[in-house]
Amino acid sequence: MKKVIKKGNAYFQCEECLLLYKDKTMAEKCERFCKKYKGCNLEITKHAIKVD
Ligand SMILES: [Zn+2]
Repeated sequence: MKKVIKKGNAYFQCEECLLLYKDKTMAEKCERFCKKYKGCNLEITKHAIKVD
């Protein structure tokens, strides 16, 4: 999980699936799940934020 700055806002990125989260806890959950199951959990990824 790493912190990234996009358009002046801080986000937390899952280093496995590269999705961005506002919430550090969600990013950690996502990364833990992604690493373990090699796939994403919809219940987690629905909290991901789309930033272009
Ligand atoms: Zn992930």
